[in-house]
Amino acid sequence: MPHKMNLIEDNYRHKGLRQQMVKQLRDGGFNDERVLAALNEVPRHVFLDSSFVEYAYSDQPFSIGSGQTISQPSTVAVQTKLLNVESGKKVLEVGTGSGYQACVLAAMGAKVFSIERQRNLYFRTKEILEQLPYRVKTFLGDGYEGLPNWEPFDRIIITAGAPFVPPKLVEQLKPGGIMVIPMDNSEGGQTMVRLTKQTDGTLTREEFGSFKFVPMLTGTASD
Ligand code: SAH
Repeated sequence: MPHKMNLIEDNYRHKGLRQQMVKQLRDGGFNDERVLAALNEVPRHVFLDSSFVEYAYSDQPFSIGSGQTISQPSTVAVQTKLLNVESGKKVLEVGTGSGYQACVLAAMGAKVFSIERQRNLYFRTKEILEQLPYRVKTFLGDGYEGLPNWEPFDRIIITAGAPFVPPKLVEQLKPGGIMVIPMDNSEGGQTMVRLTKQTDGTLTREEFGSFKFVPMLTGTASD
């Protein structure tokens, strides 16, 4: 039986560009080697339209249609590092988008559950993920609701700008669990926030600089 992986080309040029991307992140001071190994492994170009291969490995966000973007590699690196993923951890991602961040987490051994609210992106990405060897389960839905049938999670990562911490996501996070969430700030961007749930249910909060995300919206959409 032919393996679906054959449909995806990852040649020496792609691998070379990817190594350069990783080198740039390392030269820029990013030093989490486990995250860098995952970024070196996941073929980022397959998540973009094939005509944009040259751009796939530069440190910039890129349009994936429906007004949405694939996060830039340095942002994926920071969020992944802050999430402190270990093999076997159950991770909930809000904002599947291209599926790239989800695959980076899966490449680190996480069991990834990812929610997307835009129907067309959900189906586009599902098709791409089926051709890749990563353990990512995707859901069409509203991330504010989380996944009540699959909770609790060891880790939760939000990849859209959140106006507040969604209470249901806090409920679905295990004690000792970590949530990484870009929170809307007064400058029109987002502050990267890491919340750690204590055994008594309270949250500790740390901040890690400014970023720019598309907004976390409510409900589902078909545009
Ligand atoms: N993690 C993605 C980044 C996608 S950009 C990647 O690696 O490519 C953010 C995504 O969040 C968009 O696709 C947007 O449609 C989605 N989104 C926004 N609000 C959401 C919500 N409430 N629930 C689920 N997805 C949401």
